[in-house]
Amino acid sequence: MFLPSHIASGYILGHGLIGKELPWTKVPFFMILLAASILPDADGLWSPTVAGHHSVLHTPIFWLAVFAAMLVWDKLSNISWMKPAALAIFLGALLHLITDWFTARTVGIQWLYPFSGANFDVYPVQPGKGQIPVWDMIRDPYFSFYLENKVLLWFELGLNGIAIALFWMNRLGGKQI
Ligand SMILES: [Zn+2]
Repeated sequence: MFLPSHIASGYILGHGLIGKELPWTKVPFFMILLAASILPDADGLWSPTVAGHHSVLHTPIFWLAVFAAMLVWDKLSNISWMKPAALAIFLGALLHLITDWFTARTVGIQWLYPFSGANFDVYPVQPGKGQIPVWDMIRDPYFSFYLENKVLLWFELGLNGIAIALFWMNRLGGKQI
């Protein structure tokens, strides 16, 4: 999924969680969640291809380990923001993996890594179409291929539409985020 759509899904989730009146400072939690919703795609910076960009950053075990490490750090240091930051990073990254799994076109998600290298996807993936540099995603022929699955296309457009609508509703309502 494209980065704006990941940010949109993070915004929708963050909004849903904030509405639950979670007991910590809202804005930093929300901002960390938003940043974490695109964090797994950092591997696109060093991966030679679209289909190859799913490194360990696209596995749940990595984010579980980060979560656990931050909780241990919290216990040892008692830094007040450590626990909410750990939760925000974990939720944002997990959301990224779930949406990448649902919208997978060239490479799935290795949910069971390192116990199994199996890639999971919802619609059959076509790894051959992803043998291009990451920056060529927004050009043809990849872009046309990306638009072929209309369910996924409308899902992604819908996420962006809902997030933009929520954002403007909040703005008009005078809310901070
Ligand atoms: Zn991704």
